[in-house]
Amino acid sequence: DRFAAGCDVVTYEFENVPVAAARHLATRLAVYPPPGALETAQDRLSEKSLFTRLGIPTPRFAAVSSRDELAAAARSLGLPAVLKTRRLGYDGKGQAVLRSDAELEAAWQQLGSSPLILEAFIPFDRELSILAVRSRDGHTAFYPLVQNEHREGILRLSRAPAPGLSDAVQQKAEAYAAAVLSSLNYVGVLAIEWFQIGDQLLANEMAPRVHNSGHWTQDGAVTSQFENHLRAILGLPLGDTRPRGHAAMLNLIGRTPTEADVFEIPGTRLHLYGKDPRPGRKLGHINLCEPDPAALEHRLSVVRDKIGQ
Ligand code: AMP
Repeated sequence: DRFAAGCDVVTYEFENVPVAAARHLATRLAVYPPPGALETAQDRLSEKSLFTRLGIPTPRFAAVSSRDELAAAARSLGLPAVLKTRRLGYDGKGQAVLRSDAELEAAWQQLGSSPLILEAFIPFDRELSILAVRSRDGHTAFYPLVQNEHREGILRLSRAPAPGLSDAVQQKAEAYAAAVLSSLNYVGVLAIEWFQIGDQLLANEMAPRVHNSGHWTQDGAVTSQFENHLRAILGLPLGDTRPRGHAAMLNLIGRTPTEADVFEIPGTRLHLYGKDPRPGRKLGHINLCEPDPAALEHRLSVVRDKIGQ
């Protein structure tokens, strides 16, 4: 209550905020994105059920709350499949790929103390994400789809617009994202992650916040995701989401290069978070933006060689 008394509007950039606290604040003042969106995104089962209700393709899934349900879900979905905790998983934590029946028991021992979801394993061509934003008066804007590369479940590299992106796939992602935004009466930036197979998109998960795969917008779009989130929640007109060129964002994981090493390479933009280094921890990112894809790939390989990420 003391916190609410000092605020005009409340937002969050972390999705493990307790829903009860967000709901309580929402009785006193504007909380965006709405607590209902937070609640849906905190549970993979509600998230995938929402996608399904809206006609958005998503990997086939089943809720798992006992060892028997795990066996039944593995039979009905088939293997390989991915077992995930419904809540609090991030960066690939709280999940296990099941390739044979023999692996079920160990996965159950590892994860079975939490409510789970089993998903069909998708042999995707690539992973994409869309950053969407909706204003208080219902206007929407979309950034171009981003191509994401993960290693050990952690986002390493994003390219935007996704190389070879077709208008048809972009339009499909925008239509799906628009359906999610309006169904949740959403305000702010929302990220949805996809698996692409051919020109098909399957929704993997969503984040009710600015997103790591949108950090390229700081230096590669007319308006960054952060500015657009603030514009949205403050009731201001949304900013232009067009890219300024071809952008890449390289996460700095576990260790950071020296500033001199980064600044020696023309065109680099370094963003550091001021966190203590720890293996697997995201400590910052480097953004690049070039006029054409070939120039971007060249610059990116120079950066990766230099800093070893
Ligand atoms: P998530 O936490 O759900 O985003 O999963 C982390 C990463 O695991 C994803 O970015 C994918 O690379 C991989 N992954 C997750 N779910 C699946 C799936 N159903 N099929 C194939 N790969 C998956």
